[in-house]
Amino acid sequence: MELVAWVLGAICPKFALKALTTPLNKPILIGMQERKTKDLVKKYCRQCSEMFMTSIPNKIYCSIKCSGESFKERTGRSSALKLPTATVGAISELKLSTDLMTKGYSVFRALSAACFCDFIAIKDDKTIMVEARTGYMNKVSGTPSFPRVMHGKIDCFAVYFPLESSCKYYDLTLKEIIL
Ligand SMILES: [Zn+2]
Repeated sequence: MELVAWVLGAICPKFALKALTTPLNKPILIGMQERKTKDLVKKYCRQCSEMFMTSIPNKIYCSIKCSGESFKERTGRSSALKLPTATVGAISELKLSTDLMTKGYSVFRALSAACFCDFIAIKDDKTIMVEARTGYMNKVSGTPSFPRVMHGKIDCFAVYFPLESSCKYYDLTLKEIIL
């Protein structure tokens, strides 16, 4: 070992020093490699609870998969619905129109998906152009997320939150309103 270290030491003195000070049953590590393995600590994944080794102090997930799953759970954007997107949208429209009717509105649905709004809701002298959306509530920040794209002049977004089974209404500044 000493001889090998000596020969290599002529080319790379750092390696030679390492070779002489590293026990025979341990790999000889130099530079980056050395730094990476030096501070490995045992951690438990916040998502799957499996043990993993890392040198990154603030790493809390064992894998990209676990961090992605945690994000889905935290934002409420869960794939737990397991339904086609169009079906999820249709359910939202039905839930929202039912909610509006329960609130005493006469609800008129658009006949074409290309219409600029999804419903027109009328109660007494109040007429509201409504765009229906499926939303997800961020469990951490408590803020709703839903597509805000508009296809014409509307008065409010009606948002159905499938995971909470709730209907909420937002004006165009995205402030919640009570209809
Ligand atoms: Zn994990």
